[in-house]
Amino acid sequence: MKKTELNNPETKKPEIKKTEAPRLMIDPLETWGIKIKEKLIIAGPCSAESEKQVLETAMRLAKHGVHIFRAGIWKPRTRPNSFEGVGSVGLAWLKKARLASGLPVAVEVARPEHVRDCLKHNVDVLWIGARTTANPFSVQAIADALRGVDIPVLVKNPVNPDVELWMGAIERLSQAGIKKIAAIHRGFSSFKKNEYRNTPHWEIAIELRRKWPNLPILCDPSHICGNRELTPLISQIAMDLLMDGLMIESHIRPETALSDAEQQLRPDRVGELIHSLRFKKEFPSAPESHLELEALREEIDEIDLQLLNLLGKRMKLSRHIGEKKRKEKMSILQPRRWKHIVENRVQAGEKKALSETFVFRLFQEIHKESIRNQRLGDQ
Ligand code: PEP
Ligand code: MN
Repeated sequence: MKKTELNNPETKKPEIKKTEAPRLMIDPLETWGIKIKEKLIIAGPCSAESEKQVLETAMRLAKHGVHIFRAGIWKPRTRPNSFEGVGSVGLAWLKKARLASGLPVAVEVARPEHVRDCLKHNVDVLWIGARTTANPFSVQAIADALRGVDIPVLVKNPVNPDVELWMGAIERLSQAGIKKIAAIHRGFSSFKKNEYRNTPHWEIAIELRRKWPNLPILCDPSHICGNRELTPLISQIAMDLLMDGLMIESHIRPETALSDAEQQLRPDRVGELIHSLRFKKEFPSAPESHLELEALREEIDEIDLQLLNLLGKRMKLSRHIGEKKRKEKMSILQPRRWKHIVENRVQAGEKKALSETFVFRLFQEIHKESIRNQRLGDQ
């Protein structure tokens, strides 16, 4: 290929195809051997604290429509010298809780020893916590300990908003032969403080669904919110986005909880939350709605094509401007022009009921691509 061809953005191939993902063999939720009604509801304390607390919580939750009982046994705490879980002794309590409530039990594992201990105590479901998902060495060690075992494993998103890292953890389990896998969106750490404990990035969960449509995705509203008040709202958003279930923290006396006291719900409140949920389905039941939607979507498709045509034209002009800048030894970034574009487009967008944030982000992306194009022509 001639050098000029290589430098021409129109002939340059993108390095990574973001649209592709390796195939994943996943058993659908219905085949997991767990009784589920509509959506999979997992609930239980952040931490197992005592036999009495575990038993009471499990029995009450069973009456409120929960399908799996969760409890942390080994707790990954951000700072040392806080309650780090009761350890293996709690596994015997869970065994009793399963017997008394009839609910399968789920435990967080972070190391191969945890896996072995859980398997020894017949724990039904395992989950990998957010801090562990972020560490490929730990995930691999867990996957290796699970080789040849048929047990459901839930994978929380990593603490940082990185869909590849989340996928990597899922692939490691899949490659170890685990087929009953689900992802859990529990929100992401962010430096900027906001109303959430862990900011939800629904777009990341949506991207995971696009890559692996057959992978069940649950939501953990408790760790997203960090408080009881917002939890029902986040749970409903998860339903609106077609997630397959919820993992909710619940404690018989939340105020006294040894970890995550602010976000745990009493079992009866979990029941109310489940009751208040409006479950959604992907497709309409009425055939006429289906046809109406089709017609509207055809219009959208047409508009999207027009948008792409216009963006293509815009980029061509931008490259042309880039050549002029090069000849004149002008900078690619033109701060005054960019300031004008932002102000003008945001104002024009407002007249079309488009939010400032959306228009700003949209033009930031377009501008970034223009700069990339002009720089390509500059090399
Ligand atoms: C938990 O579920 O108690 C927990 C520690 O969650 P995360 O890994 O999402 O922080
Ligand atoms: Mn917790």
